[in-house]
Amino acid sequence: MNDPASTITLIVGTRNRKKGIELLELLNPEWDPNPRLSKLGLQTLADYPEVPDVVEDADSFGGNARKKASETAVRLKMWTLADDSGLSVDALGGAPGIFSARYAGTHGDDDANNQKLLAELASVPEEKRGAAFICHLALSDPEGNIRLESQGACRGRITSGIQGSHGFGYDPLFLIREYHTTFGELSPLVKHQLSHRARAVAGLRAGLERLVVLGELK
Ligand code: IMP
Repeated sequence: MNDPASTITLIVGTRNRKKGIELLELLNPEWDPNPRLSKLGLQTLADYPEVPDVVEDADSFGGNARKKASETAVRLKMWTLADDSGLSVDALGGAPGIFSARYAGTHGDDDANNQKLLAELASVPEEKRGAAFICHLALSDPEGNIRLESQGACRGRITSGIQGSHGFGYDPLFLIREYHTTFGELSPLVKHQLSHRARAVAGLRAGLERLVVLGELK
């Protein structure tokens, strides 16, 4: 997605490949082209293997998103957008929350995380399996100052087994009740209309456009 005609580079501060793809598609959606935002040449941290991982030790999605954005921006001296996101399950008091990526121990082991969640909820009846996906976005300027933030949420219900293979993370367990299907079964385009990440990006879009128009994001 690095458009050579673009003049403005924005780093999307994630190494999670599927999360990165979602963010790139949401920031520059094919179904709603935006001439201002399409000037952004988007790169993810996959383009910068030398940049060390940021330690996510804050106690909130917002704290971790701000930390990832500003540490990466200072390191690269470039505008950086970071996403911290996760799943908050009502019956588990909000867990796994900020620990979603490493719920079962190993960072990013989606299968193990899903199996652990199913085991924790084994005795919880359907009507009490409500949950929310949360996404917090933070945009940092190259000096490490947070210039924009946005949080989006999406409610659903945790199924009692894996359903579908689209998406990543907990998608195959996250049922959208109105559709009677999980994010794992819905197409990426439908997820992009409903998801926590889509809502967070929508909340950031006007601010991003303003920074481009004012020539600050350059
Ligand atoms: P982060 O990279 O620390 O923000 O961790 C995000 C983790 O939350 C992922 O590894 C997934 O386990 C979970 N997660 C966040 N967003 C989604 C989503 O859109 N679908 C499924 N799981 C998600």
